[in-house]
Amino acid sequence: MELKNKRVLVVGLGKSGIAAALFLRQQGARVTVSDARSATALAGEIPALLEAGIMVESGGHGLLTFRRQDLIVISPGVPLDTPEVKQVIGFGVPVIGELELASRFLKGRILAITGSNGKTTTTTLVGKILDESGVPSLVGGNIGTPVINLIPESTDQTVNVLEVSSFQLETIQQFRPWIAVVLNITPDHLDRHGSFETYAAMKARITENQQTGDFLVLNAEDKPTQMVAAKTKAQIFWFSPRRPIKQGTFVYGDAIVFVPREGAKAEPIMPVAEIPLKGAHNVENVLAAICAARLAGAPAEKIRSAVANFKAVEHRLEFVHTVEGVDYFNDSKATNVDAAMKAVAAFPGGIHLILGGKDKDSDYTTLSPLLRERVKAVYTIGSAAEKIERQLQGVVKMVGAGTIDVAVHEAAKAALPGDVVLLAPACSSFDQFENYEHRGRTFRRIVQELDQ
Ligand code: ADP
Repeated sequence: MELKNKRVLVVGLGKSGIAAALFLRQQGARVTVSDARSATALAGEIPALLEAGIMVESGGHGLLTFRRQDLIVISPGVPLDTPEVKQVIGFGVPVIGELELASRFLKGRILAITGSNGKTTTTTLVGKILDESGVPSLVGGNIGTPVINLIPESTDQTVNVLEVSSFQLETIQQFRPWIAVVLNITPDHLDRHGSFETYAAMKARITENQQTGDFLVLNAEDKPTQMVAAKTKAQIFWFSPRRPIKQGTFVYGDAIVFVPREGAKAEPIMPVAEIPLKGAHNVENVLAAICAARLAGAPAEKIRSAVANFKAVEHRLEFVHTVEGVDYFNDSKATNVDAAMKAVAAFPGGIHLILGGKDKDSDYTTLSPLLRERVKAVYTIGSAAEKIERQLQGVVKMVGAGTIDVAVHEAAKAALPGDVVLLAPACSSFDQFENYEHRGRTFRRIVQELDQ
């Protein structure tokens, strides 16, 4: 991809947008960036961009800014149906994302992980296994480090372990992972993608450029994920916590085994009991990670020790503290209904569940059976509270808490020794917090203060 003297517009100045703009400039492109936020809101970012010789447009997008470009690099946060973007697509100007741009320059091979839930956990774990195995690897993508920033360090030997979201996959063209993983496809972001079918189709794009020498790792127990199998040229490996499969990883008795090809003998990898993470969903993440890492060359004994020493990623069913015999867990990253359901399913009962935040057109009624079975009370917070209370009326005791502070204190009052207070809100955080990390940290602080 020749960028020298090309006119490139970067839309959206998040972490990956800024990284893309600086990279494009280094490659000799004539770069403009455009963001809907005001110059004041972008005060932290603008000076470095101007210094690099990048033009900055803030407080909205000018139609003319879009028209004079050879290439548009759009951030995952900006919808493709933004009027300015729609118009230039109509004019035939290529519109790609940072993932596509970066993958054209990244050296080595790509191991990409997508799914509705479990991406960060699985990506981090694959990175740790490859480290332990001495396979040269870098970790990035949606997990925090823009893929662009991996380019300088990548070599022909590198396995680039990338967490990729549906938003990033929406703007790929040639992106081709050597190993691709789809963990699960459950409803999320329907406010942005419109329908579940569109969202599922976006996730399936992870395999659209894969060839016969590539590998695709899929969840054998998740119907929408199984459908991706029909769309690939790659060799399919399955993972299943429930039943033996022909090629891939599964639980056999009390052990995880890997079958490298149909008809081959199963290799024992490790006892399931050595997985240090809570919840059946994490067994699935581990199975997927093991399969991908094994395909990337990690040996069984290194996989076993890396998994056994793995700690839950912050805000993912993270144990916070025990106060007066009650355990507090922070699953602030449970930003959709399925993740919240998996969190509840990780405990046998006695749960005080904090639900709510910003709704994403979700259906909370699917939580009803599990709530009836395991949850003593739900404490609602944020702007989704009213909808949650309406949808779950009569299912379980409901306490309208409003804020996380009130929710924790009410739950602490009601909880008995042996109970669990769980923040697994099933919503995004943007109504009351900067992001889910801020929400999780706030929860942790309030819990720590209970003990003082
Ligand atoms: P992602 O990066 O896809 O958001 P994370 O690893 O950050 O995934 O986990 C997000 C949320 O989903 C957390 O609340 C976590 O407990 C839950 N979760 C993790 N793995 C799974 C899974 N395989 N299925 C359902 N929920 C999961």
